[in-house]
Amino acid sequence: MTSFRAGGVTDVGRARQVNQDMPLLADDQRLWAVADGMGGHQGGEVASELAVTTLRDTYGRIGERSVDALLDAAASANAAVNDASHDDPDLRGMGTTLVAIAETEDEELAYISVGDSRIYLLRDGELSRLTVDHSLVEELVREGAITPEEARTHPKRNVVTRAIGIEAFVQVDSATIVPYTGDRFLLCSDGLFNEVEPEKIASILRRLSEPHDAAAELVRLANENGGRDNITVVVVDVVDDGGRAATASSVVRGLGDDPAGFGTAGTGPHAPRNDGRTADEGGPGKGRRRARRAQRRAEAGPRPRRFTWRVLFFLLLLVAVLAAAVGAIGFYARGTYFVGFDGDVVTVYQGKPGGTLWFEPTVVRRTLFTRDDVRPELVDELEAGREFGSRGEAIEFTRTATDPDAGSEPPGGTSTTSSTRPGASTTSTTAANSSTSTSAVTGTP
Ligand code: CA
Repeated sequence: MTSFRAGGVTDVGRARQVNQDMPLLADDQRLWAVADGMGGHQGGEVASELAVTTLRDTYGRIGERSVDALLDAAASANAAVNDASHDDPDLRGMGTTLVAIAETEDEELAYISVGDSRIYLLRDGELSRLTVDHSLVEELVREGAITPEEARTHPKRNVVTRAIGIEAFVQVDSATIVPYTGDRFLLCSDGLFNEVEPEKIASILRRLSEPHDAAAELVRLANENGGRDNITVVVVDVVDDGGRAATASSVVRGLGDDPAGFGTAGTGPHAPRNDGRTADEGGPGKGRRRARRAQRRAEAGPRPRRFTWRVLFFLLLLVAVLAAAVGAIGFYARGTYFVGFDGDVVTVYQGKPGGTLWFEPTVVRRTLFTRDDVRPELVDELEAGREFGSRGEAIEFTRTATDPDAGSEPPGGTSTTSSTRPGASTTSTTAANSSTSTSAVTGTP
């Protein structure tokens, strides 16, 4: 199994009064993130903290470990920040950037990005950037209108073109990457890369082996170079990729030694993916099992032949077919969302109305709307449960079903645009209000 070691530091910097950045180090969930909030009053701090906690909680609740789960969690984070900004006039217009990486069930790393925080990868000593900034200056750099150096001091470098929480729905970049031992991932807010050159970042990441030490040194250097913004750095090291060939053969062994385990393979958080192919004969476990059987026979003396390899093979095949059937039903039952009433509360569920076999629908989100808020012609339909192909569509529907004016909102749903673009080193900053009040937030949640 792949192992990770992570460390992070966040710092208010030298110019700001408030730290609106928020790192997330959820090692137990193998989920790491950085958010850089923006908005007046307390907005920026609230937005970044709400975004990472919602991301973590939703990702934990979904249970599945995939890029889609990460996107769903990001969509929830967006909805939470957006809802909060509507609920409290002081928080109106708040938003946050969000970058996150998480290990998937395939032992790949999924990553997402909204805004102008970044994810870098240091592999074989070379630093490359995995994300693109969603900022005005980055667009100008891409168009060739300005150089990356000009972007750093551009008057509009604070303008982000996408952020969590601004609209009801947000487009989220996402991709996956296969991690290898020695890979070092860096998640950071613009307070780092606007102050420290990429070459210098790379040299520190090469030099300091402890993730926390590297993060602390990067923050120290950003402050030394001006510290004009909040600075957040999270470093995630891949310390052991587990040997993918070895993992595959252990699955073969697991089958022979524990056929019952086959039915659950692939459903746990880190279970190896199992497509049934390994039920075939052969594999390293076979010789060992045969030797053990031979030894048992020799100890027990001759006895009737009851359990042959052929029988074992067909039993395993039967278990595999049953497991696939259970998986398919589960996929069918859990693959949709619907909107209905929980008592009188308009509620978004995952699953099928009434459930399918033993897969009961689960509550994804209870809205603030009740039966009385629903447009009269839709009440019967919601009573029965109206189905949707995605969580985003279902949530969007709860708005339009209750508010005739909401139809003018932008089309919803996250999209999975690959954003792998190593190399370029441009700059920008988030539209943060410069200074407000109170103490610096430092440390990790
Ligand atoms: Ca910032």
